[in-house]
Amino acid sequence: LIQGGAGGPVLIGSASAGNMAPLQNFLARNGQPHHVLDPEADTDAADLVARYSPTRAELPLVVCPNGTVLRNPSETALAMALGMIGNSAQDRLYDVAVVGSGPAGLSTAVYAASEGLSVAVFDSRAFGGQAGASMRIENYLGFPTGITGQALAGRAFNQAQKFGAEMLIPVSIKSLDCSKASGAFTLATGCGHTLRAKSVVVASGARYRRPAIDNLEHYEGRGVWYWASPIEARLCANQDVVLVGGGNSAGQAAVYLSAHARRVNMMIRGGGLGASMSRYLIERIEATPNIELMFNTEVIGLDGAETLERVRWRSRLAPDEFTMDIRNLFLFVGADPATGWLEGCGVQVDRGGFVKTGVQNGEGAPAVPLLQTTVPGVFAVGDVRSGSVKRVGGAIGEGAQVVAALHGYLADAGSPTL
Ligand SMILES: Cc1cc2nc3c(=O)[nH]c(=O)nc-3n(C[C@H](O)[C@H](O)[C@H](O)COP(=O)(O)OP(=O)(O)OC[C@H]3O[C@@H](n4cnc5c(N)ncnc54)[C@H](O)[C@@H]3O)c2cc1C
Repeated sequence: LIQGGAGGPVLIGSASAGNMAPLQNFLARNGQPHHVLDPEADTDAADLVARYSPTRAELPLVVCPNGTVLRNPSETALAMALGMIGNSAQDRLYDVAVVGSGPAGLSTAVYAASEGLSVAVFDSRAFGGQAGASMRIENYLGFPTGITGQALAGRAFNQAQKFGAEMLIPVSIKSLDCSKASGAFTLATGCGHTLRAKSVVVASGARYRRPAIDNLEHYEGRGVWYWASPIEARLCANQDVVLVGGGNSAGQAAVYLSAHARRVNMMIRGGGLGASMSRYLIERIEATPNIELMFNTEVIGLDGAETLERVRWRSRLAPDEFTMDIRNLFLFVGADPATGWLEGCGVQVDRGGFVKTGVQNGEGAPAVPLLQTTVPGVFAVGDVRSGSVKRVGGAIGEGAQVVAALHGYLADAGSPTL
């Protein structure tokens, strides 16, 4: 159905109309079949546009399966019209609210719902999280030829629903109130609603930092990588590559890629590596002849037709700009955890903003479950968790693991006062 565009809403407008591209992307990422008609090429679509006479800003028109016609809607308005999200969640008290439907959140939902807990899962955009953006995950157990993140997450999404988990996408959680004034944790959504749950699992992940480089998003997955696995290494065999970053992950990736690429041009904003990289890695890099260290440099723009062909860069010490013919650019400039919504609720984070778990309250204090945050009843799993391994397998494992702790907490807490 998805491939054939059969069923679902019909988007009417040119490729460049209003929110056309983001809406198509939103529907595709959420596994919603849809169909696009350009009024310039389709007479029925042209008739409909003539009938509704939208202004330029009101295109595309979206015709929903129930007959509703929307004018250049937001993702949330479209999701509401398609019945992807309803209002019933506001009236319920869930055993567990899971914030984030990346691998960690989906795994929590599958295991918690399959063991009889009532589960609501929220995601501000689409299921799959960062993994949903991966064209091929080759190191996930059981898929020897690899699987796209979207396919893996799509299966988990259906599996979670099969066990009764309620998926609320797109719903962004803006804040968490742990005072339990209403007898339970309260989550406030971006649309101004509140929802209640006896326990909360923070699975909001991390977003790889995107430096300010022109056209960056256009080339993500088409020559721009935040990751250096054997797939990318194969892509740049015997080619020159650019790698941006001066930390340990950048250093490890540079050493790894140097065994495959002809030359690794390592661009570092600062004037040295000593402050940001471990000594052993610096020594490895210095001993590797095909790693070129380019201090005080930064990438400023990307060019190419469909895929990346050229990188524009400059020295931070001189005004001149340069270009380098490069098909693969690796960015290792850190990741920011999505924890802004936890501010003020008592959940402690580390210096990088990642959620601390399993923190012992001094000698003799009762053992704290490994994945519990500093607020009992609030747990954290996956990339958002301080010290996590930042891998799909790790995120999924933690999702399975947290369910035992949820059972323990819910049994100890009993039913909250309603
Ligand atoms: C391009 C790419 C390729 C990768 N390839 C691999 C690979 O090959 N192998 C591997 O093991 N790992 C890979 N990774 C890493 C892997 O994807 C992550 O480790 C994994 O996705 C982490 O899962 P997570 O559920 O913890 O967080 P995420 O995947 O980050 O998901 C978090 C979700 O929470 C949602 N969210 C955040 N804040 C809120 C909020 N306030 N309200 C509601 N929702 C919210 C986000 O929209 C997101 O969907 C890759 C990552 C990227 C970016």
